[in-house]
Amino acid sequence: MVKIPGGWFNIGSKNGSPDETPVHRVWLNSFWMDRFEVIQEQFKKFQLPDPSHFKNPKHPLEQMNWTDAALYCNERSLAEDLEPCYDEETWECNFQANGYRLPTEAEWEYACRAGTTTKFSFGNDMRRLKDYAWFAENSSGKTHPVGQKKPNPWGLYDMHGNVSEWCNDFYSEKYYEDSPEKNPKGPAEAKERAIRGGAWNSSADSCRSAYRASDPSIDDTCLASDAIGFRCVRAIPLRENSNAPSNKPAGEDMAKENTNQKVSKTGFVYDDIYLAHKTTVGHPETPQRLVAIVERLKTTGLYSRLFTLSPKPAPSKWLTMVHTPEYVRRVRRSCEEGTEYLDSIDVPISPESYEVALTAVGGVLCAIDAVMEKKVTNAFCAVRPPGHHALKDMAKGFCIFNNIAIGARYIQKKHNLSKILIVDWDVHHGNGTQAEFYDDPSVLYFSVHQYPFYPGTGSEAEKGSGKGLNYNINVPLPAGSGDADYVRVFKEKLEPAALAFSPDFVLISAGFDAHKDDLLGGMKVTAEGFAKLTQTVKEIAEKCCEGRIVSILEGGYGLDGLAASVEAHIQVLMR
Ligand SMILES: [Zn+2]
Repeated sequence: MVKIPGGWFNIGSKNGSPDETPVHRVWLNSFWMDRFEVIQEQFKKFQLPDPSHFKNPKHPLEQMNWTDAALYCNERSLAEDLEPCYDEETWECNFQANGYRLPTEAEWEYACRAGTTTKFSFGNDMRRLKDYAWFAENSSGKTHPVGQKKPNPWGLYDMHGNVSEWCNDFYSEKYYEDSPEKNPKGPAEAKERAIRGGAWNSSADSCRSAYRASDPSIDDTCLASDAIGFRCVRAIPLRENSNAPSNKPAGEDMAKENTNQKVSKTGFVYDDIYLAHKTTVGHPETPQRLVAIVERLKTTGLYSRLFTLSPKPAPSKWLTMVHTPEYVRRVRRSCEEGTEYLDSIDVPISPESYEVALTAVGGVLCAIDAVMEKKVTNAFCAVRPPGHHALKDMAKGFCIFNNIAIGARYIQKKHNLSKILIVDWDVHHGNGTQAEFYDDPSVLYFSVHQYPFYPGTGSEAEKGSGKGLNYNINVPLPAGSGDADYVRVFKEKLEPAALAFSPDFVLISAGFDAHKDDLLGGMKVTAEGFAKLTQTVKEIAEKCCEGRIVSILEGGYGLDGLAASVEAHIQVLMR
């Protein structure tokens, strides 16, 4: 999904049909929106009968009545442990629920315009419509797979064509005359529901951003149109919207970022929510770590060349691939109850920590999806809390959920790739990750770390067990080791083992606490050293798996050294 930033915009058009007037200013809270129209394959996942006329798993759903679209929203919410928005008797929408729903007309138009005020999201020139939409003149009388045409400035596809899209609102021709200024939701009742966006059989004029249409929301599929489908939206928790209403032009920053996204092949996961996990005064694992990283990337101009990825909280079904359900519940409860520590004073928590930790995992999952969907070749996740010390049922060493271990399981289950290489160059041994995959030959865990040191594990003798024997490689190094030592280990130990294993996907536990200026580590690695390690891992990924790498921040506690190392690391990923 695409995160649509909250903002003001002018809804309607004074040059269109009468129902598009009066043009008026509207405020919308931020929300998530599907990048693509919902496709037939997604619908079938929930055992719902596919009513589409133009059958093809990658084509948008159509011949959809409004109620079935709402039903899909509920099923999709339940599958991700979210609260469904629709009452299945009255079909009333609960806008407070965190699940999926249909967009309001205002949300739809705002997202479609993506900061533009022209007829289309690409300007006023109708001749360019064929590059952005399937409509009457180029569709050959049918739908097409989603995402083939150019996206709008916010990265949304098929907004001007392919199939028209159901909105949550009832339709009223005169609604704009008295609709509220903030988050308008359509009239309370009417005979028909609103529809937005052009379809394969639309004229160019009815593909405009402001164009409004409607259809009776009949339940009977036989009477539904094969030119109507939908996409979903989801609310973003209100806290992020709390200081929102300002007169800032709608989503300008986001539009700027997204125009650059086409050229970059390295994704960057970050969200301000990661700053909300508060540790104790003097604790080295602070929100400032991420602030320093993002500031550094912005100052050096690297940030605008990255493909920004917006994380959302991971559904619990992925967490429990690694952690016990009891532990996940305990983390939530501890945060809700205002407990100060999880399991030991090493892991201080604040009330927000549960959601932040879920979103740290979610960040990894969204980076993996972006790589698998080939939106990016590789990605770096600037997330916290870190993860590699977390055990199945225990928080440890600043870590709550084991982000990277969950990521590996996700790649295997969701994307059906079997062999995962995890390279862990954090100065500490990743005891949690080792434990998770100790008897599992599908994951090769390679760790280089200071030894003896926290957490005590990580000797060379720990090689894995059962079928997983020799799929766990520890390279303990004495304190004081530097670039040359690390480079040698990567060339002599990592490279041959990794090439023999031939992974389908590479994950990096990228801790930068082996940096020479780190507050905790005793090593002497420099930013240039981390660049060299990145290069070796990148070459492995290029040889084995089309360069697929997701790198996840673990430790790194000297702010300058951390920021410089992340910059050097990302620069190599981007090459
Ligand atoms: Zn560490």
